[in-house]
Amino acid sequence: MPDTTLNLWGEEVAIPADLKPMSGLSPVEQMRRMYGERPTSTCGSCRHLIRQGRARDFLKCEKFGTTHGPGTDWRSKYRACGLWEEADP
Ligand code: SF4
Repeated sequence: MPDTTLNLWGEEVAIPADLKPMSGLSPVEQMRRMYGERPTSTCGSCRHLIRQGRARDFLKCEKFGTTHGPGTDWRSKYRACGLWEEADP
């Protein structure tokens, strides 16, 4: 594994030594790895959980990023990550 990588501006930057690989983690696990956990909340009460779709609604995390495919489908029962913010009532 290389010790450096290129950033968005083409500059060579060091890869943090404690960066753990994300492969094998589900999208929500990646969010919790990056931003920490909020064990007392679920994604269902987070303002970043959005509904997307025409014929039926699909839940998506707008902070993770959305696509029109199932790879970014989310569940309201997921344990929240550190980016959780209370949804409007
Ligand atoms: S808590 Fe909010 S920001 Fe974090 S994964 Fe869930 S929906 Fe996304």
